[in-house]
Amino acid sequence: MLPEVSTITGGDFEENTYIFPVEDGLVVVDPGADVQVLQNHIMRAGKKVKYVILTHGHIDHIFSLPYLSGAVVYAHEKEKTLLESPGLNLSAMTGNRIEIPAITYVPGKVHTAGDFVFYHTPGHTSGSIVVKYGKILFTGDTLFMDTIGRCDLPTGDPQKMRESLHIFSQFNKDTICYPGHGDMFTLDKAFKVNNFLKK
Ligand SMILES: [Zn+2]
Repeated sequence: MLPEVSTITGGDFEENTYIFPVEDGLVVVDPGADVQVLQNHIMRAGKKVKYVILTHGHIDHIFSLPYLSGAVVYAHEKEKTLLESPGLNLSAMTGNRIEIPAITYVPGKVHTAGDFVFYHTPGHTSGSIVVKYGKILFTGDTLFMDTIGRCDLPTGDPQKMRESLHIFSQFNKDTICYPGHGDMFTLDKAFKVNNFLKK
């Protein structure tokens, strides 16, 4: 069964924050949404935020992170430097100083924690990840339906991005992808329309 994923899209960069229920609470992926909007949504859901997942550390994906206390926050260990640096995570640019809470950093190429599988996909940033939960995949700013995330921001790397994109061929084509920006899509659709996935 697929979880019921809610999307809040907002901010200057039209970032997608995703929220879905698990047995014992809520999962929030990339809490870039406006604090009040996100808190209202959590209140309506009537559950506590149990897990927060950061596909990467850019300001438009972490804006409301300091307001989600009490949750286990996952990010890749290669993203630690960027998360802790206002210059690298671009928060300095927007004038928002983000207090980064305690984070559970996951190591390696593939890491499983409970029902989540984290895949390290450097390219957009050095610690970018995509995260699988059953048949759904949160692709962050690594993969959009018809394009990919930019690689010219701090810690970005076009060569690593090319290598990271190979990971998508290992997933079932009916996998439902929730990207950091833009509409959700199936991998099947992305393989048809996204030139970056063509060899
Ligand atoms: Zn980004």
